[in-house]
Amino acid sequence: MNKGTISVSVENIFPLIKKFLYSDHEIFLRELISNATDATLKLKHLTSIGEAKVEYGNPLIEVIIDKKKKQLRIVDQGIGMTAEEVQKYINEIAFSGAEEFIEKYKDKKGAEAGIIGHFGLGFYSAFMVADKVEIITKSYLDEPAAHWTCDGSPNYTLEPHDKKDRGTEIILHISDDEKSFLEEARIRELLVKYNKFMPIPIKFGTKTETLPKPEGAKEEDPTPTKEVDNIINNPNPAWTKQPSDLKDEDYKNFYRELYPMQFEEPLFNIHLNVDYPFNLTGILYFPKMTKDLNIQKDRIQLYQNQVFVTDNVEGIVPEFLTMLRGVIDSPDIPLNVSRSYLQADGNVKKISSYITRKVADKLKSLFNENREDFEKKWNDIKIVIEYGMLTEEKFFEKAQTFALYPTVEGNYFTFEELSEKIKPLQTDKNETLVVLYASDAEAQHSYIEAAKEKGYEILLLDSPIVSHLLQKLESDKEKISFVRVDSDSVENLIKKEEENLSKLNDEEKETLKTSLEELIPAEKFSIQLEALDSNANPFTITEPEFMRRMKEMQQTGGGGMFGMGGFPEMYNLVINTNHELVSEILNTKTPKKKERLINQALDLAKLSKNLLKGEELTKFIKRSYEMIK
Ligand code: ADP
Repeated sequence: MNKGTISVSVENIFPLIKKFLYSDHEIFLRELISNATDATLKLKHLTSIGEAKVEYGNPLIEVIIDKKKKQLRIVDQGIGMTAEEVQKYINEIAFSGAEEFIEKYKDKKGAEAGIIGHFGLGFYSAFMVADKVEIITKSYLDEPAAHWTCDGSPNYTLEPHDKKDRGTEIILHISDDEKSFLEEARIRELLVKYNKFMPIPIKFGTKTETLPKPEGAKEEDPTPTKEVDNIINNPNPAWTKQPSDLKDEDYKNFYRELYPMQFEEPLFNIHLNVDYPFNLTGILYFPKMTKDLNIQKDRIQLYQNQVFVTDNVEGIVPEFLTMLRGVIDSPDIPLNVSRSYLQADGNVKKISSYITRKVADKLKSLFNENREDFEKKWNDIKIVIEYGMLTEEKFFEKAQTFALYPTVEGNYFTFEELSEKIKPLQTDKNETLVVLYASDAEAQHSYIEAAKEKGYEILLLDSPIVSHLLQKLESDKEKISFVRVDSDSVENLIKKEEENLSKLNDEEKETLKTSLEELIPAEKFSIQLEALDSNANPFTITEPEFMRRMKEMQQTGGGGMFGMGGFPEMYNLVINTNHELVSEILNTKTPKKKERLINQALDLAKLSKNLLKGEELTKFIKRSYEMIK
């Protein structure tokens, strides 16, 4: 027997492995199965080039729990190692690698270091969960098998073994405080999480399969069954195939495989496939988006050579695309580094802009190939696109060809079409095209109707981030501005267009204003008398576009460029002096009636702007009943 001490430079790294990497102990299984996979793929390669004169066959990797012996075993049929190779790879190279890794991270907790899943610790991660580890391995070369044992001190033993079949068996003596790794459910969960798409079949126990009944079997005969290997992975996931070999149905099936709990089908997918200047494959899916940006729970998964790494792709995928689903697989993403380093990495930057470009290209081709279908999908994808336009300049440029601006009537315009097809509200002195929009077709219904009556087409822009986007469009594009239907400027612009004569003279206006001001709080409403159409509403509440937009932008974040806190609740109250009711308010002799009419009209105006709530609403309902009885 050969005994030795692994290293002298570090007194003992094993307690460090346990202690400092406590948060992600489970990754040991991924590391060991990755090694087993590599060993199997190496054998495949060596046989294919005629270097290894053995039958490759259909090798498996097997994971076995032995509760009685408190063992977890990982068995492969790969190239194996000779005793010298164990000495070299395990005792020397792997150990110094692990040592270096620990040196680097021992003072940081996993999360602080920002390491994605502690990639790079390798074989020695076994000591996170085991008191003792054994390797029994037989090389594909005609040499005796070797048996390595290490109990978590720097001392190991290495002796011959009588193992006959080629491959490596790793035996973990699971430590008492890691007993969960002897539970079948726990191991299955980990295998599904990390190894679901690894390229070599992984067997975990067996399962019972029902067979078809033999011909002539009677009704009451039991259905025949068979015990078969329980293979937990799909070694050939869709993203590893060529797009030309896949049908629409294959993409959908793969989506279901990725997200078994998702019943809604994806809208479309984008197959990523590049090998220069970096290597990346993957499939991204556009799911139906909800308005709530926070509840997207099934996320993009990052793989490295079919090994799951993380579902937190922040920093690798541009932020607006983290709302998508699917898989990215790239060996060129450095994983044992912090996130801030990751974002500064040249390859990662290239990958991020490649993905952005592919997504933009796909959207463009969907738009060009079938605009009608694209319009149908618009509502479900607009959040991603609008968010992308706001946050990625390159995407903003590309999106000009396919970003849509729908109207309340259900027409969809591109930006270019807008200026041609929409009746401009008013081009002011600077020849600016003013476009009307609504953000909520229900809540702004009466305002929409009023503008429609005048023949305007109104956009329906109802994403939560639309204020930011309009702000950007106005500053990037020349000569366009957007005004919401319930803004004060709409009132002004429509009025300017028709120049009604007021029915009231100046003296009457003064009297009216005084009565109104007595009842209506000046700190909330600024009263404006306007001579509008006699059938336009008598009282209308509007809000300055600028104020409202700032408020919204603050709510959705990122817009508080003036550092303004708490905006005052301030509105305009437009009184239509040509409306009959307004004349009645002016002319009634009974103060009680005057008060009632003003309050009622104000409440109705509030109601149509969704501002009437609580006690005011109760009073309004009471008063309304009084008035109709
Ligand atoms: P890495 O896999 O990054 O090289 P590891 O510490 O995981 O580092 O493994 C060190 C080396 O030990 C491997 O490079 C390989 O040569 C050898 N090895 C580990 N596991 C196996 C295995 N199951 N079969 C054959 N060789 C293995």
